[in-house]
Amino acid sequence: MFSLRNSAKMGLKLWNNRSIASLSALSETHQMLQKTCRDFADNELIPIAAKIDREHLYPAEQIQKMGELGLMAVAVSEKYGGTGLDYVAYAIAMEEISRGCASAGVIMSVNNSLYLGPVERYGSEAQKEQFVAGFTDGKRVGCFALSEPGNGSDAGAASTVAALKGDRWVLNGNKCWITNAYEAESAVVFATTDKSMKHKGISAFIVPRNAPGFSLGKKEDKLGIRGSSTAQLIFEDCEIPKENLLGEPGMGFKIAMQTLDAGRIGIASQALGIAQASLECAVDYANKRIAFGKPISKLQSIQSKIADMSLGLESARLLTWRAAWLKDNKHPFTKEAAQAKLAASESATFCAHQCIQILGGMGYVSDMPAERHYRDARITEIYEGTSEIQRLVIAGQVIKELSS
Ligand SMILES: Cc1cc2nc3c(=O)[nH]c(=O)nc-3n(C[C@H](O)[C@H](O)[C@H](O)COP(=O)(O)OP(=O)(O)OC[C@H]3O[C@@H](n4cnc5c(N)ncnc54)[C@H](O)[C@@H]3O)c2cc1C
Repeated sequence: MFSLRNSAKMGLKLWNNRSIASLSALSETHQMLQKTCRDFADNELIPIAAKIDREHLYPAEQIQKMGELGLMAVAVSEKYGGTGLDYVAYAIAMEEISRGCASAGVIMSVNNSLYLGPVERYGSEAQKEQFVAGFTDGKRVGCFALSEPGNGSDAGAASTVAALKGDRWVLNGNKCWITNAYEAESAVVFATTDKSMKHKGISAFIVPRNAPGFSLGKKEDKLGIRGSSTAQLIFEDCEIPKENLLGEPGMGFKIAMQTLDAGRIGIASQALGIAQASLECAVDYANKRIAFGKPISKLQSIQSKIADMSLGLESARLLTWRAAWLKDNKHPFTKEAAQAKLAASESATFCAHQCIQILGGMGYVSDMPAERHYRDARITEIYEGTSEIQRLVIAGQVIKELSS
């Protein structure tokens, strides 16, 4: 779906210095993709980002256009309507889209890595035809439902249950904080099928929006990423066909953890986009704002902030692309994805914080995007595993590596 033709349609713009400097090692396809996404962000997302944040609007038109560009299923096989690119491509696209609008970024990330990822990897042929094809063009999106009111980080303690009754699975329980909840036509849902097996008794299911017994809770009023919906999924004797089990019974926890490993590359990239937008905003303002007779970009204390912002951002970008490259080349990448997510999310928060400081009073009001970047950045340290959980994952892997 992604093609040079699409790219030409978007209208090509000259490379800026950042693109050239950071792209020397990327393939032509990756470079073209980055340019297409950057142009899309400049032309279609940046102009509407403040409005969708202010009015809590789902950017349906933009998501559909992203689908037409192949961005809603970047690494999904072409056989099922995906774009058939790799995870490095996905990371690049996610960063550029999130630089334009972090809400569009999370909607894209959930559809790509949390919904399509596990269904394509673990689904039967029939499931892929029904629940992958048709979710690749931006017209329909999916969601991923692991967290519950009683457990987020401790995902193995799921209290949502599923029981097989004849030819139907019957689900009962609540999932909370689910991104894309209001728009999703289908959900990957985790529920316990055998309590005695603890986390090994969790199974994964595909639940279509129209399943009887399925409803939505209220839309959460969030600090940031306000163009994406977040809500509870409620299952009250919710019935789905027996065939909607994803993978084998008891495989749910493994599916969830493997999905989150890949998802963390997406969230790291979202964070990079927010950090990059903050850096660009700060430099632009610092060049224009005059204090004591000269632009504040000439002041060493401002330069020091810009240096620290770019250092954190570019280090995190390297970690993110490394994690994606490892995944593409079928190497283990659990530790590297957690490192990328931790570094990029902390860099996004840092860059957005420094951006406000550089803008002074103008950083604190919604006339400028700095305060939105600050609010959007914060979630990247929480979802798909908090920073504390990333540190646990990294330490666990490092200790294992060095103790063997
Ligand atoms: C806007 C938004 C969108 C989301 N989207 C989704 C989604 O699409 N699907 C989905 O399933 N979930 C989603 N989530 C849920 C998100 O993944 C959880 O909020 C997150 O995993 C943390 O879980 P919790 O909120 O229950 O916090 P808790 O697990 O209660 O943690 C509270 C605090 O304790 C710390 N903590 C917990 N355990 C440990 C430990 N072992 N060691 C050290 N510190 C620990 C945490 O780091 C945190 O600081 C979303 C959340 C938000 C806010």
